[in-house]
Amino acid sequence: MKFLLIFLSFILAANCSEGYKNYKLYDVVPNETQYDALAAWEYIDGVDFFRLTSPNRSSKVLIAPKIQNDFESFLTRNNIVYSILSEDFDVEIEKERESMMETRKMKTGYSIEGTADFSVYWSFAEMDRYLQDLAARYPHRITLENLIFSPEGRHVWAVKISSGVFGQKPIIGMETGMHAREWAAPPTSFYLIDKLVTDEAIAAELLARVDWLIVPMQNPDGYEWSRTPNNRLWRQNRRQITPTCTGADLNRNFAYSWRAATVACGNLTYPGPFALSEPEDFVLHEVMERYRQNLRMYLSVHTFGDLVLFPWGYSDNPGPLPLNNVEEHIHVGNIFRDAILAATGKDYFVVNSLNYFGNINGAVDDNMLAAVGADLAYTLELTDGFSFLYPEDRILALSEETFVGYRALGRYIGETYG
Ligand SMILES: [Zn+2]
Repeated sequence: MKFLLIFLSFILAANCSEGYKNYKLYDVVPNETQYDALAAWEYIDGVDFFRLTSPNRSSKVLIAPKIQNDFESFLTRNNIVYSILSEDFDVEIEKERESMMETRKMKTGYSIEGTADFSVYWSFAEMDRYLQDLAARYPHRITLENLIFSPEGRHVWAVKISSGVFGQKPIIGMETGMHAREWAAPPTSFYLIDKLVTDEAIAAELLARVDWLIVPMQNPDGYEWSRTPNNRLWRQNRRQITPTCTGADLNRNFAYSWRAATVACGNLTYPGPFALSEPEDFVLHEVMERYRQNLRMYLSVHTFGDLVLFPWGYSDNPGPLPLNNVEEHIHVGNIFRDAILAATGKDYFVVNSLNYFGNINGAVDDNMLAAVGADLAYTLELTDGFSFLYPEDRILALSEETFVGYRALGRYIGETYG
């Protein structure tokens, strides 16, 4: 028995360190003529573009050991400027894991006594319990609606926050946690929810003329999967799509401008077998549509890049609605940017999504604007400089900083549409 346990723990330990062993992270800056050749690597097995931007901007890509030689000779042959950010990404992941284990010896994300600590990454169970306790304690401000049970049986909560009857004022809709590995985004939602509900001065200011409809963890299965060994870089949801393939990219699955896959299931940006095939997206679309009369702004919050992106993100098929309020999108994007710049000195870049990333079909921001009817829609990319492994000891400061931006947006919506 003892031998068996030692043997099992050896397998588990070996497994733990296998995940991204000797994977290298590259920063690559292709020019116009080099760009297409680099982009062609996107769907090759062993390639994970943390982000693929447009020409003359920094793209970051993780490459498996088996194709590193090919990739580097490709870069050299084409004179593409690059640097290596990590020689072994598994080491970075292990560092994060060890650091979080140390933190957990001293701190709990959300305790059974009801104490919330916004300086640690929460498990989904903590998020779940926190929201239900908060709703029980502040029923006059917050109501929860379970939009659906996820494919693995977790709540997908819509959090409705209002000083009166929800849905009668202009609404700001938002979601975080769509992409599993982008851990730094959901804490900013939970921090915002906490401020709106428990801080009397903030509630008086931000609930007087605005209601908030927040889905703080849209992809709980993917999130929990990314917290297990070897799966830290999981992006999709966890629905079994074929007997051999799990997960679609929830930010390619929305109906507006959706395109059938040119890539196989299993690819990072696989858009699902049909538009809104993924239950987490179907219900997010449905709840925003239900309140479309008052939906003035929609925010989809991701990492990384310090970007305020505004539609459109797709280029083909211009669609029924021209973006006739580009000026307002830029103006309001700058309100978010300026508020954070003044508070912390961090400088967000307000930019059109298509211009920055190139064509993206089936994304949530275009969908909320065109198909659902929000007046304004943004994708925020938080945290430049850390890829997806954003240090836990910085997340409280990030949430405080991002709250400054959310608050400025709340004021704008209240003053302009309230
Ligand atoms: Zn994302």
